Amino acid sequence: YVRIAISFGLAALLLTLSCDNICNLNIEPNQISSVSLQLFINNEWQDAVSKRSFPTINPATGEVICQVAEADKADVDKAVKAAREAFRFGSPWRRMDASDRGLLLSRLADAIERDTAYLAELETLDNGKPYAVSYRVDVPMVVKCLRYCAGWADKWEGKTIPIDGDFFCYTRHEPIGVCGQIIPWNFPLLMQAWKLGPALATGNTVVMKVAEQTPLTALYVASLIKEVGFPPGVVNILPGMGPSAGSAIASHMDVDKVAFTGSTEVGHLIQQASGSSNLKKVTLELGGKSPNIIMSDANMAEAVEQSHFALFFNQGQCCCAGSRTYVQDTIYDEFMERSVERAKSRVVGDPFNMKTEQGPQVDEQQFKKILGYISSGKREGAKLMCGGGVAADRGYFIQPTIFGDVQDGMTIAREEIFGPVMQILKFKTLEEVVERANDTKYGLAAAVFTKDIDKAHYISSGIRAGTVWINCYNVFGAQAPFGGYKYSGNGRELGEYGLDNYTEVKTVTIKVPQKNS
Ligand code: NAP
Ligand code: MG
Repeated sequence: YVRIAISFGLAALLLTLSCDNICNLNIEPNQISSVSLQLFINNEWQDAVSKRSFPTINPATGEVICQVAEADKADVDKAVKAAREAFRFGSPWRRMDASDRGLLLSRLADAIERDTAYLAELETLDNGKPYAVSYRVDVPMVVKCLRYCAGWADKWEGKTIPIDGDFFCYTRHEPIGVCGQIIPWNFPLLMQAWKLGPALATGNTVVMKVAEQTPLTALYVASLIKEVGFPPGVVNILPGMGPSAGSAIASHMDVDKVAFTGSTEVGHLIQQASGSSNLKKVTLELGGKSPNIIMSDANMAEAVEQSHFALFFNQGQCCCAGSRTYVQDTIYDEFMERSVERAKSRVVGDPFNMKTEQGPQVDEQQFKKILGYISSGKREGAKLMCGGGVAADRGYFIQPTIFGDVQDGMTIAREEIFGPVMQILKFKTLEEVVERANDTKYGLAAAVFTKDIDKAHYISSGIRAGTVWINCYNVFGAQAPFGGYKYSGNGRELGEYGLDNYTEVKTVTIKVPQKNS
């Protein structure tokens, strides 16, 4: 197959010079200098049927990194066929002991851990997130997620059920079948792991479409999937476009389930495609406009730093970003002043520089969309406290931006901006803030900063969201479920709850005569 070398010359040099403090695992940053850029179907690298390819761009410069094969419907058909064959009753994957399935996932985690530096480099190049974050956060979380799921493989048990009569009744937890998985670009490796881990631990097969902006790390992980010994067809990875490859998966008659992470708008399309095709099961992890509530008794320094992290982490490109910061009136001025000071000190620039806190937005489209929201904030009367413009003369960098005097009805307080733009709103009472926090179509996450346990409980039970953080933000564990209320989605990922979404429950009932006859 075609292997196209990607040169990281300068980046590798920078890494060796500046990452002594984190590259302590004895990994050569550039130990593997190529990645396969074709479609990964049935453990083979293949060109697209159409022979088409598309460019993937380095968002720090706007330059093309390389061309990647572009899957469309015909390739989805091939991949689904391979995944169906791998799922056939009696196939090596279906016959494999659950503990061996777990072992394969563990080995995949080990291989990813071994290649941490390379994967982090590739992720930063393709997505723009700071290398220090890719290396310290994204890749380690991927490894932990896969190891956590590996442990479940032989522990995902059914029940025995005492039904009436002379019967023995039990349930089996069976895989759903061929799972379509469509992932976004904001955490390319991590979203891949969140999807693959539970699906494979429970014995499904997968056809995954990766985001057009960030295909590279997923393709490299595909080569590790083959290396560690997953049977052909169990995992198929397709770079391609949403409206062609993505929608072909969502409407495919032989895909049993689709799991999607991305915009609420596309979430609607996925659900509709299921409804008008084979009623495949659908799980959706969609957008948010998460409230982050700062009570007057909060530890000010921690609340400022965590609220900054809640919004600006990952260039603001987090579905759970704390994008409505509600601050109690008595501390509003001080909180604002300190938040503006913190945002002004945020280091924006070259994502391979180890001091960088914020890299570029993922692409030109997002960059322009965010600048559009900044204009709308100004137009609708919010007060621009800092930032508000472009941060470099090339690439897609945006200044850390804060708006004050934000009103609930403004566009920047209602729509997902997905960028480094913080909205600070004032409130008076606990009851008022819970009501205002819930006045959104979304329900993904929320947080409260307070030292008063009664207030913390009032808010955590009053807010309609899938995750509530108290005195912290963006804390994730592979063991804990994540997902949304309302327009933020259906189903949960991670934890034991996440496995349910990849499982069919079969009831088996056996006649057990009580008398000899
Ligand atoms: P998106 O279009 O929803 O992208 C997510 C994934 O869905 C990508 O793989 C995308 O492919 C695919 N897709 C697009 N149209 C599809 C269709 N008709 N059928 C099936 N799959 C389809 O999101 P985006 O355009 O990249 O970003 C737009 C906004 O979505 C952002 O500004 C942000 O508000 C939100 N977003 C949320 C998350 C999250 O974590 N919840 C992640 C990313 C974006 P392509 O790569 O070809 O688009
Ligand atoms: Mg899109």
